[in-house]
Amino acid sequence: MTLSAVRGEMAQQRNQVDRVKISCSICLDLLKDPVTISCGHNYCMIALLVKQWSTMRRSSLG
Ligand SMILES: [Zn+2]
Repeated sequence: MTLSAVRGEMAQQRNQVDRVKISCSICLDLLKDPVTISCGHNYCMIALLVKQWSTMRRSSLG
């Protein structure tokens, strides 16, 4: 294996980690206006608001 191939593989792994870190687990897409909640998960602002709103709505219906 050449040195440039090793470097390429390392860069690829780093890209995968970054992609996980910047993706939202609600809409499963890249974060828009990222918000980090207390457990350390990242969500986009809109996805978090929609999730909270739908939870409130469901609980009010009882
Ligand atoms: Zn999202």
